[in-house]
Amino acid sequence: MEPIIELTHVSKTFHAQNGEVEALRDISLSIEKGDIFGIIGLSGAGKSTLVRCLNLLEKPTDGEVVVNGNSLMSLSNKQLRKERQRIGMIFQHFNLLMQRTVLDNICFPLEIAGVKKSEARKRALELLEVVDLSEKAKAYPAQLSGGQKQRVAIAGVMAMKPECIVLDEPTAMLDPNGRKEVIRTVHELNRVEGITMVLITHYMEEVVDADRVIVMDDGHIVMDGTPKEIFSRVEELKQYRMDVPQVTELAWELQKKGIPLPDGILRKSELLDALVPILKEE
Ligand code: ADP
Repeated sequence: MEPIIELTHVSKTFHAQNGEVEALRDISLSIEKGDIFGIIGLSGAGKSTLVRCLNLLEKPTDGEVVVNGNSLMSLSNKQLRKERQRIGMIFQHFNLLMQRTVLDNICFPLEIAGVKKSEARKRALELLEVVDLSEKAKAYPAQLSGGQKQRVAIAGVMAMKPECIVLDEPTAMLDPNGRKEVIRTVHELNRVEGITMVLITHYMEEVVDADRVIVMDDGHIVMDGTPKEIFSRVEELKQYRMDVPQVTELAWELQKKGIPLPDGILRKSELLDALVPILKEE
């Protein structure tokens, strides 16, 4: 595997009115190309600061950020602007222009980047197809559900042909259906277009299918592994006041009552597969 982003000994200290805040403490991390990389942790753990350091939207106080082998800290502003386009960003607020149609929302960044109007329109229509919203091209954002708005925002970021998309709580404002739609789109773009996805979320279910998950606490990475490895360590997660997926919690409770279930059950189907033989034996 090849890393797309590497952080080495990255620290970030904010000088706030009421003193210093160490948001990141000596973080070393490598994100592999093509991965879906989940980041979980309580509010204030440093997750947003970490992802903002990935493209130097936030400049680390210390350490090095390397994207595709280029050290970002040594680039000129112009070079940095170019490098930044490789990493798209999506936030919990949808970042759409309310006065423009869905199609124009996607064309807009392209036109600013100097793409010809007809070319921009063609690419925007293709992207709308990719996020399964072709029929909404002429609608205005106010006419869309939250999940649809976020998918338009994702299509807008895709227009710049990023290699990696960082999503900072993209589902925080959405209902369960909207959340599912957005996560499905993230997986689809990862699978079909090979885009590396870095996903911050408070919903543990949303990282169950990630390739790798890190847990952040107080500026540190305190856990790092596959979802199965991470959610096998329920006691430890609870010490960090973290949740686990509902089905993992249920399996863990059953284990504590003496039902011999394996660790790290992440899906309902896994729980059923493990439970049914036990129930049949009794
Ligand atoms: P998370 O995304 O995990 O909620 P953040 O990265 O937003 O955490 O914040 C980490 C810590 O850094 C928090 O204590 C937060 O208050 C502080 N922080 C973040 N941004 C700033 C800023 N611009 N100025 C001062 N403190 C900040």
